[in-house]
Amino acid sequence: MSDYFHYQDSQLYVEQMPLADIAARFGTPCYVYSRAALTDGYRQFSNALQGREHLICYAVKANSNLAILNVFARLGAGFDIVSGGELQRVLAAGGDARKVVFSGVGKSVAEMRLALDAGILCFNVESAAELERLNEVAGNMGKVAPVSLRVNPDVDAKTHPYISTGLKQSKFGVAYDEAIALYCRARDLPHLHITGVDCHIGSQLTETGPFVAATEKILALVNRLADEGIRLEHIDLGGGLGIRYHDETPPAIADYVAALLGALCGRSEKLILEPGRVLAGNAGVLLTRVEYLKHGEEKNFAIVDAAMNDLMRPALYEAFHEIFPVEQEPSPQSSPPSGGGGKRKRQSLIYEIVGPVCETGDFIGHARNLAIAPQSLLAVLSAGAYGMSMSSNYNTRPRVAEVMVDGGAAHLVRERETVSQLYAGEKMIL
Ligand SMILES: *Cc1c(COP(=O)(O)O)cnc(C)c1O
Repeated sequence: MSDYFHYQDSQLYVEQMPLADIAARFGTPCYVYSRAALTDGYRQFSNALQGREHLICYAVKANSNLAILNVFARLGAGFDIVSGGELQRVLAAGGDARKVVFSGVGKSVAEMRLALDAGILCFNVESAAELERLNEVAGNMGKVAPVSLRVNPDVDAKTHPYISTGLKQSKFGVAYDEAIALYCRARDLPHLHITGVDCHIGSQLTETGPFVAATEKILALVNRLADEGIRLEHIDLGGGLGIRYHDETPPAIADYVAALLGALCGRSEKLILEPGRVLAGNAGVLLTRVEYLKHGEEKNFAIVDAAMNDLMRPALYEAFHEIFPVEQEPSPQSSPPSGGGGKRKRQSLIYEIVGPVCETGDFIGHARNLAIAPQSLLAVLSAGAYGMSMSSNYNTRPRVAEVMVDGGAAHLVRERETVSQLYAGEKMIL
């Protein structure tokens, strides 16, 4: 467990706040974030990058709550966005447009206009066709668009295929061998200004090797561009550093940054990184309550009030999240003798932790050994990234509340949705 989620007197706390108090005050299910954990992760990056010109662009899609964006904006972060909507969130949260990089394979004309109006740092362009479109849109607005090409270094990230993005067969980025020709084309287009190069090879990487391999390929490209007279202002090495969900052993942020700096061997371009999961993932939990215990013929089920629409990762990638009781059973030595009138010891059993959604794939965790009863509170760990941001309203389930803890205070940072909000835009025909 991270330093910011810990047991004290058998109670699970976030910072100085018992999670049970948060459940009582805001209801369940809800996401709970630790401001200190978010801040700590960001500082680990900025400390490791000290002495070098850099920009840490938090990947907004990991968790786009305004309170989280605002915490990072106040620390001086930039942002990596993948839609016009994310740009509007960044601006609403007090982020600086001049520190925004815009990634994504399908930028629309409207999104390009929005970003050009806001004055972002650069577009991470992912195809030849996008380059032509961006030149035209910028020209129509009487502007010059700052561009970086997202190059596919063809490196195997050795992660889940759904979150691996840097192989030749991937839809992301431009092919390595076509990059030089595309840079030359970009140089010739009147409404584009080349600022950098970018790569992002995947997510939840737990080794430095693939990052170093990608960096070396990007550097070889930077050198060849220099031979063509194309000089870059920045090198963006993307995000993708993994976290510990279960038994993974990802490198520490400082070691990851040291490996990148080593591979950059003294180059002086500004370094941009786009971390998402590693900043938000272990800074949040999903708090849920047991509704029913059901003892089937072969398995025991704990049916909880959170479901796959609230946290999709288990259903989508069979991802593992630790699940801990908010209130631990007293240990055997300290429990009162049976019949002594004390709290009765609950039996610990192996449970399937499942939600109420009508899909067999609706599970939060398989085969967990827990001592629980109806109404018990559970914390689903490592849920700060790709949790709320991937949630949906499937089964007409309102999206859950979000709470940010800051020391001894808990703040509601997103209200629980109501059902009438869900169908507010719908109409019946006559
Ligand atoms: C998703 C994404 C990131 C962040 O990835 P993490 O694994 O969350 O660090 C960074 N850059 C781009 C282009 C992305 O699509």
